Amino acid sequence: MSMRVGLGFDLHRLEEGRPCVLGGVTLPHPTGPAGHSDGDAVLHALTDAVTGAAGLDDIGTLFPDDDPRWKDADSATLFSEAMRLVRDAGWALMNLDVVIATEGPRIKPHRAAMRARIAELAGVDAGAVNVKGKTLEGMGALADGTGVAVQAVCLLTAL
Ligand code: MG
Repeated sequence: MSMRVGLGFDLHRLEEGRPCVLGGVTLPHPTGPAGHSDGDAVLHALTDAVTGAAGLDDIGTLFPDDDPRWKDADSATLFSEAMRLVRDAGWALMNLDVVIATEGPRIKPHRAAMRARIAELAGVDAGAVNVKGKTLEGMGALADGTGVAVQAVCLLTAL
């Protein structure tokens, strides 16, 4: 059986007045990821993981924000489109796993909702998607709560 592993990483500043959209779910929090569209660092990292495993281009190359088709596109749309490209390239998704590193928002109360939403977008069962939150233990560049960093891995198998 032919299998491929993919790795994704993303980092966004958290800014006041931005909706806190992570993993396709809007969390109650006074700051949210800055950036183009909703800044959903989880879906961005997942997009790079699945396209990376399939040997496709990265998120910035596939969906350039100066292309009118993708300007201000919802991250859910980008991830769904990435999954379509992965399937078209002959790959099926086995599982996704995500670590969200931030001093806030708290991830744990929203893990189930994120897993369900990501699974819906990916076209797999929620059991094939996992999401964990980690704090920075007050250390390093994100310790002041000004950012969120996300690591994502996936496994694909040949269709
Ligand atoms: Mg991003």
